[in-house]
Amino acid sequence: MNKVNEIIKKGKELSQNNFTLGGSGNLSIRDNKYLYITKSGIRLGDLKQEDIIYLPVNEENFHSKRRGKGANPSIEGLLHIKTYEKTKAKSIIHSHPIFTSIISKNLNKLEISKDGYPIIGNKRIPIIESLEPGSKKLATKVSENLTQKNAVIVRDHGTFVKEESLEKAFKINEKIEELSKKYYLRLFL
Ligand SMILES: [Zn+2]
Repeated sequence: MNKVNEIIKKGKELSQNNFTLGGSGNLSIRDNKYLYITKSGIRLGDLKQEDIIYLPVNEENFHSKRRGKGANPSIEGLLHIKTYEKTKAKSIIHSHPIFTSIISKNLNKLEISKDGYPIIGNKRIPIIESLEPGSKKLATKVSENLTQKNAVIVRDHGTFVKEESLEKAFKINEKIEELSKKYYLRLFL
């Protein structure tokens, strides 16, 4: 499957799994010095070929593309680029899973349980302060964390997951939400 179709397919899966509530989210694939990234403000469940933008992994190019007249790459494009510059990741998914967003309000790290649930990095996923979407601060903070971990949760907002493929990033994202849901439901036992 080509990279554009891969992004379209994963966008649909994220939407079907309710990972895009309260906003659209964004995803990308790196192909050497270029990346394919979703367009700004697009619903991930409705992605079409023309909604995937191809541009160099380069901050300057990103800013000029945002300033230009054509289709805008995602507002979090800078964050994707910074992460690709600092790591060997080939795919990034940003989404808004509901349980993860809720429990992140009161936690600093998401503990990983021992009953078959995710082992990611050194078993803890950092939860960082909520910073303005699309800001340089958020891009810097998240990309720094992604040099150490495969996933970061932004408090009361959502997840950023980097991996060698979209499929792997998707699975990690899914596990984080599953774990968060369990954690949340346990609060009522
Ligand atoms: Zn977001």
